[in-house]
Amino acid sequence: IDSTKKLSFTRCIRDGDLVIVYERYDNMKAITVCDGSVLENRFGVFKHSDWVGKQFGSKVFSNKGGFVYLLAPTPELWTLVLSHRTQILYIADISFVIMFLEIVPGCLVLESGTGSGSLTTSLARAVAPKGHVYTFDFHEQRAVSAREDFEKTGLSNLVTVGVRDIQGEGFPDELSGMADSVFLDLPQPWLAIPSAGKMLKQDGILCSFSPCIEQVERTSETMRSSFTDIRTFEILLRTYEVREGKLDDFQGDEAGSLGSLPRKRRQRSNEGSNVQESTGPPTVMARPCSEAKGHTGYLTFARLKCLS
Ligand code: SAM
Repeated sequence: IDSTKKLSFTRCIRDGDLVIVYERYDNMKAITVCDGSVLENRFGVFKHSDWVGKQFGSKVFSNKGGFVYLLAPTPELWTLVLSHRTQILYIADISFVIMFLEIVPGCLVLESGTGSGSLTTSLARAVAPKGHVYTFDFHEQRAVSAREDFEKTGLSNLVTVGVRDIQGEGFPDELSGMADSVFLDLPQPWLAIPSAGKMLKQDGILCSFSPCIEQVERTSETMRSSFTDIRTFEILLRTYEVREGKLDDFQGDEAGSLGSLPRKRRQRSNEGSNVQESTGPPTVMARPCSEAKGHTGYLTFARLKCLS
C-alpha cells in the first residue's frame, strides 16, 4: 500500500512485495513474494519466482495452466483479505467516514479501538504522506498484530499503535488539541467523548460507529454539551446484478426488473442470436443482487463547538 501516494500499480513485482492473489471477486489472499516459495491451490502450483518482474495486475499461470491475477495491495483490497481478529469496518462505511471527517493529506487522526486495522489502513492512506494516525486498543495482542500488519503493508511510518483503555483513561494528554478528527469504534463510546473533545483542534470532527440505535442515542446525548452539527447516518449497500440486451427483449416487463422475466427468456436475452433478432437500442437491466449486505452500524458525526 503506497504511503507516498505515487502510483505503484505500474511497477514490476519484486521479491518481498506484498501481492493480492485474486482467484475470484470473493476469493483473494495476501501473499508476500518469496523467491523459492510456491502457492498451491485448486488450479495447481504457482512458483513465486515466475511472478518477479511481472507488472501488478498480471495474469500468471500454474504448472497445470490454471491462472490467478496478482494485484497491487490497496486499502480496499486489504480490507477484504486481512485476518479478522474483530468485527471490522468495510469500505462503504470507511469511505463515508473519511469524507465526513474531512480527512485530507497532512491530517492528524485519533482512533480507538484499532481492532483488525481495517479502518486504520484507509485512514493512513488518506493522511499520507505527512499526516499521522494514532490508534489505540486496550487488547495487547491485537495491538501487536496490528503493528505487524502495518509493517507488512508499508504503513508503519504513518501509524502509531498504542495499548490503552480509552474508555477508562481517555486519549493521552500529549495529544490534546492536536487532532483534526477522532474516530471511535468502542462498546461504550460515550465514555470517551469528553476526552475526544479535548484532543480535537477547534472545528475538529468526531465520529462514532455503533451497531445499535440505543448506543447512538446515548452517544448523541453526551455529544450535545460540547459538540454541534450532530448527525447520524446508516450506510446500506445495494448491489445490482446487471445484464445488457435490447429493450424489445424486456418489453411487457416491469420497468428495471430483470427478476420478473421468465427464466428461459432471461437467459435467451443474454444470447447473441436473440438479441440480434430484436430491434431498438441496446439497454441495461438490473436487479438487486441476492448477496447484498445489510445493516453494519450507525455513524454519528459531530463538530466541536467553538469556544467564542
Ligand atoms: N474499526 C476496527 C476495524 O475496522 O478493524 C474494528 C474495531 S473492533 C470492533 C473494537 C475494538 O475496540 C476491539 O479491538 C476492542 O479490543 C477495542 N476496545 C474495546 N474497548 C476498548 C477500550 N476501553 N479501550 C480501547 N479499546 C477498546
